Amino acid sequence: MTAQATLLYQLQGVDVNIAKRRQRLKEITTLLADDKATADARAALTQAEDSLKPWQVRNRDLDLEIKGLIDKIKTTNDMLYSGKVRNPKEMQDMQHEIEALQKRQSNLEDELLEVMLRVEEGQATLEAAQGQLKQVMAVAAGSKMDLHNEQERLAGEVRSLEATRGAAAQLIEPTALQKYESMRVAKRGQPVALMVDEGCTLCGVQQTSNIVLKVREGRELVPCMGCGRILALP
Ligand SMILES: [Zn+2]
Repeated sequence: MTAQATLLYQLQGVDVNIAKRRQRLKEITTLLADDKATADARAALTQAEDSLKPWQVRNRDLDLEIKGLIDKIKTTNDMLYSGKVRNPKEMQDMQHEIEALQKRQSNLEDELLEVMLRVEEGQATLEAAQGQLKQVMAVAAGSKMDLHNEQERLAGEVRSLEATRGAAAQLIEPTALQKYESMRVAKRGQPVALMVDEGCTLCGVQQTSNIVLKVREGRELVPCMGCGRILALP
């Protein structure tokens, strides 16, 4: 009959495999939920849109205002040279008005140049942000698919390992199984250690000949002198 310790060691092998897959499944769930790269790219795009908008509005306003000024200057100029205005004071006032309008037009045109530059910069930033988002989303979609596939594969493996575990556990005496379960957390999933050349493979401590003998007899669970794990033969 196979020693209980050896059966427990085999069970532990299955449990370690299940734990590894569960850990990875947990990571995958986190990765799928937290798509930080896409969120960051989306935020950058929104910011680019928000900073461009006021410059576009100012650009349109300036265009309109300059157009209005040009019309006004033309109307006043036409009036001035129409021959209908003969009063010198009135003519001089109109001349002054045209000059003032032209000065305002020149100032607005200076500002317009500056604003157009900002719009151009803003559009370049916006296009870059759009490109970045598109790229990030393509990568995310690809890796999401990979993650979903991995998730499915791991879930299948866990199901089959759990079936294996159930069968393996049935071969073990309830007290031995209980002992194993009670040590699992404290021993970080490895309550059983192999004894090779009379030493524990996990902590390296050499065992007394009495312990070695008991382990070889396999009639009881024997703890390692060093780490307290159940010693099993390979
Ligand atoms: Zn040990």
